[in-house]
Amino acid sequence: MQRALRSIVPTHTVLEGGGFKVRRPVAMGRLMSPFLLLDEMGPVTYGPGEAVGAPDHPHRGFETVTYLLAGGMKHADSAGNSGDLNPGDVQWMTAGRGVIHSELPQDHMMENGGLMHGFQIWVNLPAAHKMMSPRYQDIPSRAIPEITSPDGEVWAKVIAGKALGVEAVIDTVIPITFIHLKLKPGATFVHAAQVEHNLMVYAFGGAFEIGERTLEDGGLGILSQGDALTLVAGPEGGECLLLGGPEIDEPIARYGPFVMNTREEIHQAMVDFQNGTLA
Ligand code: MN
Repeated sequence: MQRALRSIVPTHTVLEGGGFKVRRPVAMGRLMSPFLLLDEMGPVTYGPGEAVGAPDHPHRGFETVTYLLAGGMKHADSAGNSGDLNPGDVQWMTAGRGVIHSELPQDHMMENGGLMHGFQIWVNLPAAHKMMSPRYQDIPSRAIPEITSPDGEVWAKVIAGKALGVEAVIDTVIPITFIHLKLKPGATFVHAAQVEHNLMVYAFGGAFEIGERTLEDGGLGILSQGDALTLVAGPEGGECLLLGGPEIDEPIARYGPFVMNTREEIHQAMVDFQNGTLA
């Protein structure tokens, strides 16, 4: 059964961190489960000295995934991990019981400015894994599988899950689909979807036909259930992220950088952070 475009979540432009411009689809409730947040950072061209990032801040109870398309970021955290993110690289950071980290532009971006574009996605963790030990996967672009369809019409970068017969190398706590797709004008992409998973498409260039409906640039399309997805690119072609995973059927208690199940657990995270025992 083909998945249809059930609803389109509108995108707002907000300023995050120290003035970082992001496009953010805002979905109420658990519409995006298991995802908590999807930010398209930029594209923005900074002048010298203008680039901004997020200095030290804590997280607990979920994962932050950064995928950079242009520019350069450097991340460092309280577990002693650090690394540069360059175009095409992915950092899959599992906060678990707690990390304090910084996400800043690389020195050359600070000094010279330049184009910055990328994504940050927050993946929720089920209660059983919220307090797991933090984990850090820094995957350079060259290690992430990419595939082009035999007719050259569809390109896919398989960050998590599986597409066009290619499997990802990144290990996820719960099964996640995270595919970057580029389709030539009028091209068709067919995906074998896991029936029990939620699936959504974020278009960030061109447009897509999904069944009878059109998903435009900047729209997050929430799909109905089914075992197949067919995306047809519009006359300009299309670029999107395909995101999926299981519904986490648990209460969400959220305060800023902490996402737990209960208010008591949020309070505990704040106490731990103030006492210096979060990370
Ligand atoms: Mn962060």
